[in-house]
Formats: sequence, C-alpha cells, structure tokens
Amino acid sequence: MGQVSVSTGETNKENDMTKFNAYAAMTAHGTLQPFSFDPGELGPEEVEIKVSHCGLCHSDLSMLDNDWGMTKYPFVPGHEVAGTIVALGGGAKGLKMGQRVGLGWTAQSCLACHECVSGEQHLCSTAQGTIVGRHGGFADRVRAQWVWVRPLPEALDPAKAGPLLCGGVTVFAPLLIHKVPSTARVGVIGIGGLGHMALQFANKWGCEVHAFTTSDSKEAEARKLGAH
Ligand SMILES: [Zn+2]
Ligand SMILES: [Zn+2]
Repeated sequence: MGQVSVSTGETNKENDMTKFNAYAAMTAHGTLQPFSFDPGELGPEEVEIKVSHCGLCHSDLSMLDNDWGMTKYPFVPGHEVAGTIVALGGGAKGLKMGQRVGLGWTAQSCLACHECVSGEQHLCSTAQGTIVGRHGGFADRVRAQWVWVRPLPEALDPAKAGPLLCGGVTVFAPLLIHKVPSTARVGVIGIGGLGHMALQFANKWGCEVHAFTTSDSKEAEARKLGAH
C-alpha cells in the first residue's frame, strides 16, 4: 500500500496534511476509490501510524460486502498493517516516534474489564475492530490505541509482516492455547492464507506436520513450507 500517499510536495497547498488519504468503498460490494477524511484530534491513548504495507484478508472482503451486517460506509479496509509511528498521544505507553509497528484486527479495548486484565483483551465486549466503525489501513495513515500497536523487529520484512497480525496469530494461538508440545503431530486442514502460515509455525515449533488439502497442486509447496 506504499503508493497511497499523494502528499509529496512540502509546499503543495492542495494537499491538506491533516487529512488521511485512503481507499474506500461507498456501498456494499463497491469498488475501492480514493477517499480523504479528517481524523480529528489525536486522542491521548492513540497512536498514529504511517502505513508502509497492508495485507488483504478475507475479513476485509466480508466487511466490504457487509456480510456481517455491521459495516459502515465509506468503508476503508485493511487490518494487517505495517508502518512507523508518526504521532503519539500523551497517554500512549511503551512506544516511540519512528518505531516500526504493526496493527491487526483490534484497534481499541477498555483495558479495565475482566477480559482486558486477564490477557483476553481481544474478547473485551467493547473492543473496536480496526475496520469496524473505524477507518483501516488501506490509507497513508491509521490510528489505534497504543496497547494494540505492536512493535515489529527491524529484521522482519515489513512487506511480509501484515498477514502475521491476523491470519498468522489465528493459527499461532492454538499452539499456545492447547499447549502443543514439540513432540506433537499437527494436522493443518486447508493450505491457504492461514494454512500456509500454520505449516511454517508448526514446523518451527518442532512438530511432525501433516497437510490436508484437496489440491494436488499444493503438495510441493506444502512440503517446502514445512509439511512432513
Ligand atoms: Zn483478518
Ligand atoms: Zn475490556
């Protein structure tokens, strides 16, 4: 998504730097088109990220088409964001300007409820999705609450970081939740956007990895990604 920004000339008065330049759909099933909006004042807990890359997840398409009945238009997709911090609210903790960060499905939670204080903050009943009632990462900039803005290692290719923040965490979490030991045999059903990452995680976890797919054409790649 590095081509979104149109504000290159510092003296170009036509481009209002307070505005975010995004791609939005105006209706369900609509085509993404350039869309600028004023994000308002940065909240004290908010972080502003200059987007360098943004993945495309099937949930972006479900939201675009209002499959879940909760989409607001104009709709800016994008919840697999990689970028750098360009503004920090006064109450934003543990982050610094210029830091490379990522943002996934959730952009805000209350930080006070049972779920939030017990490590299940993604289940907070008032959590806000990055693209649910908010404008997502198909933009030159995006904002989120500091706790959901995660530092990315400098060694990680930002072009490959985005999918780790949604599909990646979805298939990594079960290894922890089910306390999968490295001696386990792990089966991955469906070698697609999530499955191809699950193969790699399970392999690096030390497991014996089995790929289940109905597509013979995926066998060679599945083996390359870690299927035994
Ligand atoms: Zn997603
Ligand atoms: Zn909460």
